[in-house]
Amino acid sequence: METRIEKATGVYIHFPFCRRCCFYCHFVKHPYEQEPADAYIRALIREIRLKTNHGLVIDSIYFGGGSPSLLSGSQLGEIMEELSRHYRISRDAEISLEANPEDIEPQKLKEFVSLGINRLSLGVQSFNCHDLDYLGRNHTIDQSLEAIGHARSAGLENLNIDFIISLPGQTRVRLEENFTRAAQLEIPHISAYILEGVMEGEEKDRRDHELYFFTREFLGNLGYDHYEVSNFSKGPARRSRHNLKYWQNLEYMALGLGASGFEESRDYKNYADFPSYYQSIEEGKLPIQESSFPDLKIRRIVMGLRLFQGIHRSAFEDYPGPLEMLLANGVLIRSGKNLAVAPEKMLLLNEILTYFL
Ligand code: SF4
Repeated sequence: METRIEKATGVYIHFPFCRRCCFYCHFVKHPYEQEPADAYIRALIREIRLKTNHGLVIDSIYFGGGSPSLLSGSQLGEIMEELSRHYRISRDAEISLEANPEDIEPQKLKEFVSLGINRLSLGVQSFNCHDLDYLGRNHTIDQSLEAIGHARSAGLENLNIDFIISLPGQTRVRLEENFTRAAQLEIPHISAYILEGVMEGEEKDRRDHELYFFTREFLGNLGYDHYEVSNFSKGPARRSRHNLKYWQNLEYMALGLGASGFEESRDYKNYADFPSYYQSIEEGKLPIQESSFPDLKIRRIVMGLRLFQGIHRSAFEDYPGPLEMLLANGVLIRSGKNLAVAPEKMLLLNEILTYFL
């Protein structure tokens, strides 16, 4: 009997609406209104139909934003149905949705789960009310705790919490409280992002450095493995399978406003403004604004060095000069057959990568 090997891919779907637009956020987003959101979903469905890679197997889906927790059950259902019309969604696909705690309603969450969502990424940001005030978040600590409870009641165990670190006034003690609480709540995955673009200068750099490495150490002591620049998990099985595709240089398609994808060795980015996005779809064309064929060897290094486990040494064969220098300076280290960024140098990653560009 002939065995057919099907090609698997991930899908990133962008929902660009939020109830409140946070001042520090650089994602493509607009204030939520029902009618524009409905029109957007109709366009997104047409974008799925316009794809030319129908027939692939989807093994991960990631609803990001914006705030995809503002989708209704029927909108999410329409998207899932359209995807399954054109692709086979594997039975064990990881299907993640980003959610703001204040959007979590038990009934809607159960509907999401019945439609296939099996991983929830909650934008908690902090369990401290001063931090939440500073960030201008729309939710309270109690709403975060309730959201986690509702997620568990809906059968969701694969949970991530997003934290923002290095906020003004944020101390080690506050971070300790945040992380201890997450561990007590048995959250299996944590993302901790440094607040960017708000203040700059030596003092900020010093604090970023101190709190980043404090986070690494403290979460490590709580049993969280720091596997990527900003991501921690309780063991390899709890890592984000979808996001690993990015870092392992695997292909994924992008749907929606401003979304970026990597298919057939080509990087592409959709239009990030509504008129161009809609016009393209209206004309029966994929809303791709720009695309390029990257140097795959460099792409592998750029993405792969984000992982603390690093990448196979063969990836560096074409770069003997930079490699020797970075190893001699202790910036890269050997780990079995892999080469990785020395953990204490991870915040210098962008600088390190310039040696390969
Ligand atoms: S809710 Fe999330 S996506 Fe929306 S503006 Fe705030 S941080 Fe950005």
